[in-house]
Amino acid sequence: MMGPPGAGKGTQAAVISAMLGVPHISTGDIFRANVSAGTPLGVEAKRYMDAGEYVPDGVTNAMVRDRITHDDCRPGFLLDGYPRTVEQVGELNAMLASASQKLDAVLELTVDLDEVVSRLVKRSSEQGRSDDTEDVIRRRLEVYFEQTAPLIEMYESQGLLVQVDGLGAIDDVTGRVTAALNIEA
Ligand code: ADP
Repeated sequence: MMGPPGAGKGTQAAVISAMLGVPHISTGDIFRANVSAGTPLGVEAKRYMDAGEYVPDGVTNAMVRDRITHDDCRPGFLLDGYPRTVEQVGELNAMLASASQKLDAVLELTVDLDEVVSRLVKRSSEQGRSDDTEDVIRRRLEVYFEQTAPLIEMYESQGLLVQVDGLGAIDDVTGRVTAALNIEA
C-alpha cells in the first residue's frame, strides 16, 4: 500500500487486510508501538520520525524481515508504508525470494497535495501525533516525493501497480480498492 502521508493507507490497509485475512504490517505503527514501549528501537526511531525523516534503511529492513518470517505471514501479508526507498525495495525482493513469496500487487492511493495537508492538520488536532506539526508535515511530504514517489514508476514498469483514487468517503475508497484488486467484500 503506497501513497503520500495522509493518503489513507493505514485506514484502508486495516480494512483490506481484514477482508483478506492476512496481517496488516504497518512500519509506522510498529515504530510508534516501540516508541510508546520505550524500546531501544523506539528511542532510535523517534529521533527520525519527529523530524519527518525516514528511519535508516538498515533498522527498518531488519524489523520487516523479522516480522514477515512470523508464522501468521505464511498465507500472505499486507505491507503498509514499506518499502519507501530504493534500498528497501531491494531488500524486500531478497526477503520475498528467500521465502518463495512474491508481490501480488502494489496499490497506490492517489490524493492531491491540498487534501493530504488538510487531512494531516486535522489528524494532528484529533490524535496529537508528534510528527503531525506543520513543519514536520512539510518535511514528510518532501521526503516522500524525493525518495518514495520514484518507486511507483518502478512498480508500474513491472506491471504490479494498481492506482486507486483516495479522495472521498472511506467506504467509497474501500469499494474502489476491492474492485481494483478483485477482492470479494
Ligand atoms: P505517514 O505515511 O503518514 O508518514 P506512517 O505511520 O506510515 O505515516 O510513518 C510514520 C513515520 O515512520 C515516517 O515518517 C518515518 O519516520 C517512519 N517510517 C515508517 N515507515 C518507514 C519506512 N519504510 N522506512 C523508513 N521510515 C519509515
